[in-house]
Amino acid sequence: MERLVSAAEVRSATGEARREGKTIALVPTMGALHDGHLSLVRAACERADYVAVSVFVNPTQFGPGEDFEAYPRDMDGDMELLRAEGVDLVFTPTAGAMYAPDAQVTVDPGPLGQVFEGAARPTHFRGVCTVVTKLFAIAQPDLAYFGEKDYQQLAIVRLMVRDLDLPVRIVGCPIVREPDGLAMSSRNVYLSAEERRAATVLYRALCEARDIASAREADAEIIASEMASTVGTEPLVELDYAAVIDPETFRPLDLFGAKPARALIAARVGRTRLIDNIALEVG
Ligand code: AMP
Repeated sequence: MERLVSAAEVRSATGEARREGKTIALVPTMGALHDGHLSLVRAACERADYVAVSVFVNPTQFGPGEDFEAYPRDMDGDMELLRAEGVDLVFTPTAGAMYAPDAQVTVDPGPLGQVFEGAARPTHFRGVCTVVTKLFAIAQPDLAYFGEKDYQQLAIVRLMVRDLDLPVRIVGCPIVREPDGLAMSSRNVYLSAEERRAATVLYRALCEARDIASAREADAEIIASEMASTVGTEPLVELDYAAVIDPETFRPLDLFGAKPARALIAARVGRTRLIDNIALEVG
């Protein structure tokens, strides 16, 4: 496994793999790797001949006052985990190498970048789209792996690839959870023991939504308000949004059952913001 820090080195390494006829996969991450990330890496290793993982805490996707400085970092641990998975290349650029001091061109995520997570974090998806485009331009992968954990991010990246004709296929992977249901996240380390216990209410609310939906017991608005009231029973958790949406447009659904649907939830647990989601299907 090679660890490279410059874009030029990465381009030449993946270029050589391409000339050898290898299929190249990229897994973009911000590090502090857990089993959720590793599920993406494993899926990539199964399908591609050459797997590159980027580990980069991208400053442009954090807003002012967010946790960029505090974001967990564990480069040695990450390298060990990736080596054990048989990854070919790890790209660990510095922010200074990724962005020219006067960098000014960005990728606009469009209207989907303004709702839900985009409403809570107005510059977030512009930062995500810009860094993902740069990573695609640098590694030129055939396949790129993203988790459904960040469901809106996955939808926006798919749209970006379609709308900008980027020559890469996006592969979405299911959410990996802790045994008690909490979605794995690098940010879970911020939670105190009490907050960690309280945070399980998000998955409970999503499971309720799934069960109500599969029993055809309620329309979308009622499902969303049930989720909100479940979260409301947990004093340490402050709901940001709970919604039932069309998984492509992210428009709130009125009538549930005619189309596929996704339940989304976001909340603050102490100072930590957590997001999660689940597929809703009529039973
Ligand atoms: P991050 O390091 O948080 O930017 O995440 C990097 C990639 O891993 C993104 O595509 C995430 O959606 C994905 N990911 C993070 N947590 C999970 C999880 N619990 N299950 C599946 N994918 C995840």
